[in-house]
Amino acid sequence: MKVRVLGSAAGGGLPQWNCGCANCARARAGDPFVPPRSQPSLAISADGARWSLLNASPDVRDQLAKANGLWPRAGTRDVPLDTVVISNADLDHVLGLLVLREALPHRIVTTAWIRDALLDHNAAFRLLAPAFHAVKLDEAIFLDRDETLEARLFPVPGKAPTWLAQLVPNAPEATLGLRVCDRRSGRRLVYAPGLRALDSGSWAELAAADLRFVDGTFWSDDELQRLRPAAPGAVQMGHLPIGGRDGSLARLSLLPGRTLYTHLNNTNPVLDARSSEAAEVRALGVEIAMDGMELEL
Ligand SMILES: [Zn+2]
Ligand SMILES: [Zn+2]
Repeated sequence: MKVRVLGSAAGGGLPQWNCGCANCARARAGDPFVPPRSQPSLAISADGARWSLLNASPDVRDQLAKANGLWPRAGTRDVPLDTVVISNADLDHVLGLLVLREALPHRIVTTAWIRDALLDHNAAFRLLAPAFHAVKLDEAIFLDRDETLEARLFPVPGKAPTWLAQLVPNAPEATLGLRVCDRRSGRRLVYAPGLRALDSGSWAELAAADLRFVDGTFWSDDELQRLRPAAPGAVQMGHLPIGGRDGSLARLSLLPGRTLYTHLNNTNPVLDARSSEAAEVRALGVEIAMDGMELEL
C-alpha cells in the first residue's frame, strides 16, 4: 500500500488567512522551520496507479496538481481516482467534494448520517448525490477496483460539526476512523483525524494498525484560549490534545509500528520543527506528518 499525505494541517491550514499567531506569521515569512501546510487529506493506493482519498479538503485542487500519480491520462479526462472516503462532515473534510464536482469518476463512501447531513442541508452537495455510496459502521468495502484495499469505518469519540449542531442530533455515525487492510500482506493503516478521547474501541483499532495517522490538532487543551480568551477548549472541539499526562502522546508512544500526527492546527507548537514539543514527540518515536510525504506499507 502506498500512502501520500496530501495535507497535514487542520481546517484553516498554515498560515490561516485570518491568523497572526507565531506559527502563521513565521509560515507567511518563509521560515524554513515552519513550512506552510494545506488542509487535511491522505491519498492511498494499492499499486501507485489508481488512488483513493481519505477526506476531500478545500485545498484538494492544489494537492492533486502536486501529486503526479493522480493526474488525468494525457489527452483524456480520465483520472485514476476510485473512491473518496469521508470521515466526518466538518467543512475542512468535505468542501473538496465540491471542488471535484466535474464528471464524478469516483465514488464517495461514507455513512448515511454524513451523506444525509450534507445533502439535506446543502443544496450544492446535491450535485454529487449519484456518487454517494452509504455504508454501515464496520461494513467492509473495497477502495480499489481490484479489491486489494479493504476498508471499514469505525466510530470514534467526537463532536458533530458546528454547522450541523442545531440541525441534526449527534450519532456514532457522525465521527469516524477508517481502517484500511491490504489483503495481499494483511498490513493495516488507520486514519483518525478527529478523536476526542481514546476509548477502548478506538484504542483497539489504533493498536492493531501497522501505520496510524492520528488527530494532532492541538498540543494543549487551552491552546486557542491563549489567542482568543472566549475560544473553546480542544476537547470541547472534539480533539484530544497531544501533550500532558492525559494527552495522546503518552499512550500512542507505547504502540509498535509507525504513528504520525496529522490534522495539525496552525497554533500547535509541534509545527515549529525546533520547538521543545516537536522534540518531545520525536524523542518518543512518534512522527509529525508533512505535506507531500510518501510512505509504503
Ligand atoms: Zn495561526
Ligand atoms: Zn478537520
